[in-house]
Amino acid sequence: MSTRGSRPILCPSAQPHIQGSVAFGVIAGSSDDPRVSWIENPVPVTPDLLALTAPVDPTQVLRIAAPCQEKKCCHFDGTDCHLADRLVQLLPAVSEKLPPCRIRPDCRWFLQEGSAACRVCPQIVTYAIDPSPELNTAATPVSWPAATEPFNAAP
Ligand code: SF4
Repeated sequence: MSTRGSRPILCPSAQPHIQGSVAFGVIAGSSDDPRVSWIENPVPVTPDLLALTAPVDPTQVLRIAAPCQEKKCCHFDGTDCHLADRLVQLLPAVSEKLPPCRIRPDCRWFLQEGSAACRVCPQIVTYAIDPSPELNTAATPVSWPAATEPFNAAP
């Protein structure tokens, strides 16, 4: 696992079961136009926290970061996260300023794509029921056929 100093590089669209996961954003806005509301002090993902989102999947309402799973993840090629570069290529910027995101120093998407990742990031829902075609395309691993399942921007 790659690190920055003593800290792991984080996937900013992770599943909650990964050890070390933290919630750093809450999905606000609307289903058609979601926006992340950033948590000032990210909180560890615990069973109690996950229970609060029931019956909805936690990744429909929370943005969760966890140590990047690298070669265990279908989006990682050994060097780069292709989810990050496809999101930047395919989605519009929705924020002129960098969002007040607390995980930035360790975020895989930011470290790879820079501020462009942060300008598209506020519209990302890890598990979106009705994703846009652009999100679906971005979330489809490069070597896979077109996605037929709901968008799932996570390993
Ligand atoms: S891409 Fe930017 S805004 Fe999104 S999680 Fe990473 S650092 Fe935060």
